[in-house]
Amino acid sequence: MYTILAVDDAKSSLRLLEFDLKTAGYDVVLANSGEQALQLLITIEVDLILLDMYMPGLTGLETLKQIKPMANFEHLPVIMLSASEKEEQIVAALELGASDYVTKPYTAKILLARIKNALVLMEKTKQLELLANTDSLTQLSNRGHFDSLVKKAINQAKRADQCLSLAMFDLDFFKKVNDNYGHESGDKALVEFANILSSVFRDYDIIGRVGGEEFAVCMPNTILQDAIQACERCRYLVETTPVNVDSNGKEIAISLTVSVGLVTECSSTISYDEMLRHADILLYQAKANGRNQINVNDSRRNNSEGVCMSQAAEVNHQPVETELEFSGIDYQGGVKNVLGDDGLFQEILLMFYEDHGKDGEHIEQALKANDLERLKHLVHTLKGVACSISANTLFEAAKSFDLAINEQRTQQYHELFAELEQQLSNVLAGIKRQLIDK
Ligand code: GH3
Ligand code: MG
Ligand code: MG
Repeated sequence: MYTILAVDDAKSSLRLLEFDLKTAGYDVVLANSGEQALQLLITIEVDLILLDMYMPGLTGLETLKQIKPMANFEHLPVIMLSASEKEEQIVAALELGASDYVTKPYTAKILLARIKNALVLMEKTKQLELLANTDSLTQLSNRGHFDSLVKKAINQAKRADQCLSLAMFDLDFFKKVNDNYGHESGDKALVEFANILSSVFRDYDIIGRVGGEEFAVCMPNTILQDAIQACERCRYLVETTPVNVDSNGKEIAISLTVSVGLVTECSSTISYDEMLRHADILLYQAKANGRNQINVNDSRRNNSEGVCMSQAAEVNHQPVETELEFSGIDYQGGVKNVLGDDGLFQEILLMFYEDHGKDGEHIEQALKANDLERLKHLVHTLKGVACSISANTLFEAAKSFDLAINEQRTQQYHELFAELEQQLSNVLAGIKRQLIDK
């Protein structure tokens, strides 16, 4: 139901308006001066305003002048109620953004018809605006809208002297998804990635699809460590959440990875263009460094291809005090990857146990069936995940196997599989001992 704010200094006129509007099914809020109306607008949401032109104190025109620039009111319809037909007053009101005017004494039928028109127009304008701002595939903000929201957030950060973080995401080797499984599968993967972003980031973070398979997130009032943690959750979720796609009429699960460039600015000279450019460069470096990683502006990091790369960033941490020993896992390193969040790391280890506990069997089956695509996928994914939980020996074993698959050294598969399986069992047994059996 729509709420209408009626503003008039004459009590009798207000009562009459109230009666007519309520009879027509509207909720009504009354104000007997422009000042009171402005006050009410701070706390009450209204859908339309009926505003008397001639009032002592703030006149209708002066009130209108103050309402229109107020945040979120640019589409709020205002219908002026005027006792005279003085042309210049009416023109002035329309020029200030009034939607319509009605002369008093009014006929209820005509007033109600004009209210209805104004509300319909407002709905259409809102819908158009939503369409113009939203990416139709993912329902996230499109590039233009993202830009304008972030610019506002940056101004706000400057005023409040707060840090602001900006992350650019680009799906890795996404072209292959389209090439191998078709454009529809690609679209589906993009939607699922958008859902992961929406689930990871907070309501007041700004998420946008800024290019084909490129997304960006602006995190207001967020310091680097917190931003890394959120991006790391996202990176991990992408890597471990399979997407079901169509492969020649058969549904198969594939997994994707994402690379991230992340910048945080805390100075009063933040510029959007600079941040964007910077995040783009970092993203490009993340790609060059091996993908599936977050790259922040940290000169101490200097990775080279083939090294376990998923460490978010070298942020200084006190060693975690723990009695826990996980075979095959560098526990301290793993906790450091999630910025010292012990609990989160243990959660991730349990997820690993659930998602990859049967990888040995699956790889063996793929080997037996000579299903090379599946074999490649399983080993490659395990490599990335092993890296992210700091299971370094398992990572090395998966990496050797992955390389052999790429180079089709088939005679080595069984030996490499045996090594991989041994390392995997070792890691799984450690997690089971510490986190499941206890
Ligand atoms: P990199 O890891 O370097 O980012 O490799 P990439 O293959 O992801 O990068 P590249 O920029 O070469 O390819 C991006 C691909 O994204 C190409 C294009 O077909 C695909 N893409 C862009 N927009 C859409 C879309 O709306 N739907 C689908 N299905 N694919 C899209
Ligand atoms: Mg890409
Ligand atoms: Mg790209």
